Amino acid sequence: MSTVVDGRALAAKLLNELQDQIGNLTAQGVVPTLRIVQVGDDPASTIYIRNKKRKGASLGIDVQVVKLPETVTQTALLHQIETLNVNPEVDAILVQMPLPVQIDAAAVVAAIDPAKDADGFTPANFGRLWSGDEGPVPATPAGVMAILQQYHVPLRGQHAVVIGRSRIVGRPMAAMLLQADATVTVAHSHTRNLAELTRTADIIVVAVGIPHFLTADMVKPGAAIIDVGINRTAEGKVTGDVDFAAVEPLAGVITPVPRGVGPMTVAELMIQTVALTKARVAHD
Ligand code: NDP
Repeated sequence: MSTVVDGRALAAKLLNELQDQIGNLTAQGVVPTLRIVQVGDDPASTIYIRNKKRKGASLGIDVQVVKLPETVTQTALLHQIETLNVNPEVDAILVQMPLPVQIDAAAVVAAIDPAKDADGFTPANFGRLWSGDEGPVPATPAGVMAILQQYHVPLRGQHAVVIGRSRIVGRPMAAMLLQADATVTVAHSHTRNLAELTRTADIIVVAVGIPHFLTADMVKPGAAIIDVGINRTAEGKVTGDVDFAAVEPLAGVITPVPRGVGPMTVAELMIQTVALTKARVAHD
């Protein structure tokens, strides 16, 4: 029998702890402030942003959206980022992806002040993460680390296989596991004999975007299985990258989809916004 992670309950617990920190800040007259830059009307982005706004409002974090038209120029978008960078009332900034084709997304992310980098995606913070230094980190892998810690999954000296090497999940995930003294293998679409690798893993993090990608024959009994994938079935249901029904009986700890990693991502964004606010207050 495996332990099935309750991402909703864990997110609620962490946000409850965060509430105390927000209370301390507001007692000093400080309201944590997050600005989300949205370009265009991508429906999925609009849903993600609505969730972030709701969560912020429920916690006493001031989350507002700076909305720009789909046709915005690179120059106008960079100007907007700079305006937020220099605004002393803004603690945290994130640019909602994807951006339209005329925009150089990497240049836009690089323009965010690293001290206000809510997503931890700026090159400066990415470099910090890989150097083993403190700084803002991407929310999804941070949520995974919180799950592993709260469910007492040992990491030191353990073999972790991360499947996927995106900038938002796979790469920062690998850096965080390495920082926690795991022995990390990063797999991707060119990896050969993936099942041989995963069968030696104590922890498997799957972030590929293919339903039922991780099957039971790829898993060592007792392994911790973290499913980051969010896929929509033809019937409109949300499903992860793991063949949950087949893998769950084998796993030690396993995250479901939905209600696994997903709720932790929004929670970690709020945690990071408050951390940036506290750093700003300490610096002032
Ligand atoms: P990307 O599409 O950016 O990356 C997918 C990765 O999977 C790539 O590195 C790719 O390799 C690798 N891959 C593809 N096919 C294979 C294969 N056959 N074998 C091994 N590796 C393969 O996706 P993201 O990282 O952005 O997202 C991954 C999943 O996580 C998606 O379902 C997304 O919706 C979900 N997600 C969930 C979040 C949450 O809050 N729970 C947050 C962010 C994402 P290569 O680099 O070689 O192309």
